[in-house]
Amino acid sequence: MAKKKGEKYQCIECGMVVVVDADTCECEECDIICCEVPMKNMAKKPTKKAPAKKVAPKKIAKKPAAKKKK
Ligand SMILES: [Zn+2]
Repeated sequence: MAKKKGEKYQCIECGMVVVVDADTCECEECDIICCEVPMKNMAKKPTKKAPAKKVAPKKIAKKPAAKKKK
C-alpha cells in the first residue's frame, strides 16, 4: 500500500518507528524493510469517530481486469 503522510510504521523486530512525512508515494505495494521484515503500520487509535475517507487514486498506469465483481 502506498504510504500516506502521517502514517507510522514500526519494526516488529527492533521496535523502531518511522513516520511518513511526505505524501508522494504512489506505489501499489510499498514496504519499509527493517530487520529484513516489512515494518508494520501502526493504526492510529481513533479518539473520536473519524470518517472513513476514501482517496481515489489519481492515476493508475494499468489496471488488471476487475478482480471481484459484485
Ligand atoms: Zn528493525
